[in-house]
Amino acid sequence: MTDSYDLVVIGAGSGGVRAARMAATYGARVAVVEEFRVGGTCVIRGCVPKKLYVYASRFHDLFDIAPSFGWQVEASFDWPTLVANKEKEITRLEAAYTANLEKPGVKIIRDRAVVTGPNSVRLVGEGRELNARYILIATGGRPHIPHIPGAELGITSNEVFDLPVLPRSILIEGGGYIAVEFATILAGLGVDTTLVYRGDCILRGFDQDMRRGLEAGLIDRGVRLIYQTTIASLARQGDEVAATFSDGVTAPFGAVMFATGRTPNVRGLGLESAGVELTATGAIAVDAFSRSSVPSIYAVGDVTGRAQLTPVAIREGWYFAETVFNDNPQAVDHSLIPTAVFSEPEIGVIGLTEPEAATHGDIDVYLARFRPMMNTLSSRTERMVLKLITEKDGGRVLGCHILGPGAAEMIQLVAIPMGMGASKADFDRAMALHPSAAEELVTFKAPSYVYRGGEKVGG
Ligand code: NDP
Repeated sequence: MTDSYDLVVIGAGSGGVRAARMAATYGARVAVVEEFRVGGTCVIRGCVPKKLYVYASRFHDLFDIAPSFGWQVEASFDWPTLVANKEKEITRLEAAYTANLEKPGVKIIRDRAVVTGPNSVRLVGEGRELNARYILIATGGRPHIPHIPGAELGITSNEVFDLPVLPRSILIEGGGYIAVEFATILAGLGVDTTLVYRGDCILRGFDQDMRRGLEAGLIDRGVRLIYQTTIASLARQGDEVAATFSDGVTAPFGAVMFATGRTPNVRGLGLESAGVELTATGAIAVDAFSRSSVPSIYAVGDVTGRAQLTPVAIREGWYFAETVFNDNPQAVDHSLIPTAVFSEPEIGVIGLTEPEAATHGDIDVYLARFRPMMNTLSSRTERMVLKLITEKDGGRVLGCHILGPGAAEMIQLVAIPMGMGASKADFDRAMALHPSAAEELVTFKAPSYVYRGGEKVGG
């Protein structure tokens, strides 16, 4: 038997769900095929549980400074409680996502889908064929695991949320978002944490002050950092995993986690036979409207390798539905995306870094470093960093980089004036809110240093 749809979406993650809902709202007959849980990586084993675990880990710092406010706290942590409560919350969210799909009439099919042609999809389990006027691939990504002997003994972000017991120690490989976030989380929960990274400082591509500030924050929280090194092999050693590093050193760990990037999920989807072209990095090649090389097949989210961020996937899914089912072609602007690293200290950034901005012309850099007020009664010396990068002499704001408490929340709001093309003078016009950390952004007087002709001057 063959069912016919206006749209078959493969993958019920952030991008796929938004596209399906919107298309159905515009009157399309829509099916979503999902082989795992509705909600995708973000809801089930990504952003949402991660943020909950970040909150859990932050109690460590709070207990640390509590005595400076007169509190005496006797604390202990129970991992199974956190895992169970997290599971309850993501189950609730999964149900909400499911209801949001079903309300406008989207059919959810629990199966694995393979594209068999420009307008056909086969359900592997049921063995049934679906006809589709349009197909949307929204299959996201999966963790990349280096090809080393014993790699199967390591875990990834897919498994770490539900470990039956918290390991005594962990070795995390990588220097990106997931590596530093989980180093923070696990160290905060009391796990002896080591991070090994092939480069010379975590978070390549981020502002230098953010990188060095977070590096100091991780060390301060007991995370051991090993640079310019990789894991060469893993081997079982009793209950533990022995890691041999590229420098020949071997050490045992309670667990080893790879946070070495994510790969677009295209394997086994039948894209080659349908004629869908991939990029050099294995993502689905799409145009500004998310259309692939096959006119009836579109793709949104991580599988397209544009920006691996939930809100971007959601926007791409929404604009796909606008374009195809509402006669309102919309292209997502990927040029100004705020992003946060939920490490400790937290990082929020938008726009250009200094080296990037300096290639665009002369720039001014405004920098504030201070102890967050929360820490001033204790002996904690950690500094908060706020940086504004502008065109010279009070011109347009080109970049904003924040390290410290509330950085993510602040950057979301900074994204509004920056999206409107705000200048330094626009920021200055805003009345400061005192006492807050964010007031620094509207009270900068003279630049801390400048770049003229691409060269740094002063500072
Ligand atoms: P990232 O791309 O951020 O980082 C991958 C890290 O692994 C880099 O440090 C990279 O090194 C290193 N690496 C890659 N391949 C190897 C290898 N073969 N051997 C050793 N090291 C290697 O990926 P993540 O896995 O951390 O996260 C995936 C994406 O998910 C992020 O890019 C982000 O877009 C998204 N994400 C966003 C979050 C947020 O918004 N807060 C949170 C978590 C994920 P190098 O720097 O040298 O390339």
